[in-house]
Amino acid sequence: MSTSTVIRGGLVITASDETHADILMEDGRIAALAASHTPAAEALSAERTVDATGKYVIPGGVDAHTHMELPFGGTFASDTFETGTRAAAWGGTTTIVDFAVQSVGHGLREGLDAWHAKAEGNCAIDYAFHMIVSDVNEDTLKEMDLLVEEGVTSFKQFMAYPGVFYSDDGQILRAMQRSADNGGLIMMHAENGIAIDVLVEQALARGETDPRFHGEVRKALLEAEATHRAIRLAQVAGAPLYVVHVSATEAVAELARARDEGLPVFGETCPQYLFLSTDNLAEPDFEGAKYVCSTPLRPKEHQAALWRGLRTNDLQVVSTDHCPFCFSGQKELGRGDFSKIPNGLPGVENRMDLLHQAVLDGHISRRRWIEIACATPARMFGLYPKKGTIAPGADADVVIYDPAAEQVISADTHHMNVDYSAYEGKRVTGRVETVFSRGVPVVTDREYTGHAGHGVYTPRSTCQYLT
Ligand SMILES: [Zn+2]
Repeated sequence: MSTSTVIRGGLVITASDETHADILMEDGRIAALAASHTPAAEALSAERTVDATGKYVIPGGVDAHTHMELPFGGTFASDTFETGTRAAAWGGTTTIVDFAVQSVGHGLREGLDAWHAKAEGNCAIDYAFHMIVSDVNEDTLKEMDLLVEEGVTSFKQFMAYPGVFYSDDGQILRAMQRSADNGGLIMMHAENGIAIDVLVEQALARGETDPRFHGEVRKALLEAEATHRAIRLAQVAGAPLYVVHVSATEAVAELARARDEGLPVFGETCPQYLFLSTDNLAEPDFEGAKYVCSTPLRPKEHQAALWRGLRTNDLQVVSTDHCPFCFSGQKELGRGDFSKIPNGLPGVENRMDLLHQAVLDGHISRRRWIEIACATPARMFGLYPKKGTIAPGADADVVIYDPAAEQVISADTHHMNVDYSAYEGKRVTGRVETVFSRGVPVVTDREYTGHAGHGVYTPRSTCQYLT
């Protein structure tokens, strides 16, 4: 279904510019831009015209951190690739990079094949994969080279979750050395999981079983310590490093110091750390379980450092770490023992709106909004300029965004397959109106017009911030 569309009269916002321009989309790509109300713009013609007067026209969001159908803690993340990518589209995100998982004792290839099988034919928007490396050995290291060549160019390791995803320092160093050679990017879950497990055991022995203790045992210092260690291991290996879901002031400081030293070190944070806090984890009647994720939510005071990091570019990306578990039947697995609460929050649908609200709240500029949510994640993970911007030749992944519409975030109206919202009742200004994925309208005037299988697997080049 190759159609052409002109979007007229909107304010086109990219990471670098804000321009009143008309956009011609043809055969799935951006064909031309022309300043609105000029002869050049009037010369743009297409089968269909969409009026975006008074609206923003922005690149589709790139969410570089999602976990659809992730097996965790004896259950599975409640969004499938079908439901999760549909919700992403509703929220103005047109590309996700999800995590394929290597299980201990199995190869990378086997894990990647399994994730391809889950996603293929089911996605509403385009998708790509990172690879979780849980078992570093000679075979795994060789497989990393092959994966980089075929477009899986980033590898996640865990300093947390001993016995599940955990890698020790030697395994991490080996994978980093390999990525230094093959161009891959190591993504790190930086928390000292060995120390945390001791504190978990001690807390439970004291009868501290409520969700809020999840936040207390996973100490900011243990995030900072792991972040520091990951940075120095990467430095020794001569490899770049991307630290996922940074939540603590002290961890931001480690990243800032490393960047000041000139090291190729990058950091991501997530909306939950910017908008939620340990106050949520302390909600009574086990409601705090809704906010259990790792790294954990921090006391409110940490938010200022995260916003500052986003402004100063010590943090470069906001992803969701979307990993939803229903309160009923899933989060409830941890009643009486916080360590059994599945870790993760829903959010893939809310990221663009929450960050737009941050623009209105004065935390970031409009262009920085697009930079941290679209352009930089695309560049970081080798998808730019196909994804992440509006420019001739780019995929026509375009969102018409109403900056004045008001909405109240709620599980009653969201499209994620989960029975609660982490932002229930929060009022935000700004809302997605229409979403194009490669020129095809997948959301049209707040109606879903996409379908499972429209989204295609998108191989990636290596990180575009290196060399
Ligand atoms: Zn994650």
